[in-house]
Amino acid sequence: MVKLKNPDLLRDRCLVDGKWISAGNAKVIEVENPATGDVIATVPSLAATDVEQAVAAANTAFATWSKKSAKDRAAILRRWFELMVENADDLAALMTTEQGKPLAEARGEALYAASFVEWFSEEAKRVYGDTIPAPTTDKRIIIMKQPIGVCAAITPWNFPAAMITRKAAPALAAGCTMVVKPAEQTPLTALALGVLAEQAGIPAGVFQVVTGDARDVGGVLTASDTVRKLSFTGSTEVGRILMAQSAPTIKKLSLELGGNAPFIVFDDADLDAAVEGAIASKYRNAGQTCVCSNRLYVQAGAYDAFVEKLAAKVRDLSVGAGTQNDVLIGPLIDADAVAKVEEHITDAVEKGAKVVVGGQRHSLGGTFFEPTVLTGVTQAMKVAREETFGPVAPVFRFDTEDQVVAMANDTEFGLAAYFYTEDVRRTWRVVEALEYGMVGHNTGMISNEVAPFGGVKQSGLGREGSHYGIDEYLEVKYFCSAIA
Ligand code: ADP
Repeated sequence: MVKLKNPDLLRDRCLVDGKWISAGNAKVIEVENPATGDVIATVPSLAATDVEQAVAAANTAFATWSKKSAKDRAAILRRWFELMVENADDLAALMTTEQGKPLAEARGEALYAASFVEWFSEEAKRVYGDTIPAPTTDKRIIIMKQPIGVCAAITPWNFPAAMITRKAAPALAAGCTMVVKPAEQTPLTALALGVLAEQAGIPAGVFQVVTGDARDVGGVLTASDTVRKLSFTGSTEVGRILMAQSAPTIKKLSLELGGNAPFIVFDDADLDAAVEGAIASKYRNAGQTCVCSNRLYVQAGAYDAFVEKLAAKVRDLSVGAGTQNDVLIGPLIDADAVAKVEEHITDAVEKGAKVVVGGQRHSLGGTFFEPTVLTGVTQAMKVAREETFGPVAPVFRFDTEDQVVAMANDTEFGLAAYFYTEDVRRTWRVVEALEYGMVGHNTGMISNEVAPFGGVKQSGLGREGSHYGIDEYLEVKYFCSAIA
């Protein structure tokens, strides 16, 4: 069991229309602690009719929530933000228990999640329109922005809190209402956000959390004509399915999908800074983020020195349950995640790569895996094509700038990319040539609430966070008035 300062945050029911409900047929989903394999709680496996009820409640609530002044919505969202900060330790405890990330990282996520609510509580008041000079003297042209309506969110397990607030905060700020379906592995954090939403005064139906079979719930949400917008974070594969399911109702979509981030180190880079950036971007959340560097490309002149420094640091990364002090790498989310990491390492080794550090399941057992560094990696290996989503750093060697840019872009993904160089001219050439939605230069950490997060190519559609983020929940209305 998870110990909380405020035990009220632990819920085993869903938040629908201001009530905490179980599934009519009493069906449940078990939630496991990935560090121990223990079942820590159950949540309802709602029936389609329960989800339909949530959509109907969101529709009813939209009528009043969207009519509130932006200032009023902002005040309520501000309170939600404050409650998240006040309860950050409990949110962290829930996250570590159901997701596995170390407590310090989980606390960091709680505050990161709250930062989106703070940011969009402020942006709520800045949804500006436009006036456009008409082509004739007898007309006036006004552009106004209005909330899209009822929105749905389907979110992943790797960031149980932040992936929800990054969608719900701009939606609610814009005047939309939202039904959230969290990942089945991490519903407890989502339900705790629901408790805090109620406490903040967010009215019934405005923010709802439904748990259940992903396909069934996703089916109801995408088929509904009432749901005007779907925001999804998860795999490209599921993103494609949801996009297809949304086609009959021409839903608006925001999709934050997979990545295959290149991390490029040129000969002229500050190698210590590059190693530090690589550790931060590769091993955060045990490598389970869509912006984690997946491929490390190091120029020939710096290759050996970089590998030596990286290997030394990776050997020092402590592995264990996220609740233990000083642990930096928690368990992977489940057995499938471990199998994928193993498959990528085996494939690379069979094709000639060398394991410099790690390479195996950790002696702790369960889903713990040794932080790993591979050298001699080539574009022919699986690690070059697929997102590993684990603590494995494959280090590729390259000779020229043109060559590495071509290798970095040789993927259907285009989420985040990183490069290290001290050369200003090269910096501009490389940032312009990389086909990615986000590029970090001399840093491995780029996410924050003020900047637009999102990908190009098959990494998705739309942007989250920043002043662009609220546009995803607004429609542009053109108003033309004839005055002659
Ligand atoms: P991951 O590989 O990170 O688990 P997924 O894309 O499988 O990513 O899952 C992300 C979210 O999508 C989760 O909430 C999951 O329950 C949901 N999901 C998975 N498959 C479907 C589906 N067919 N329809 C709707 N939602 C789905």
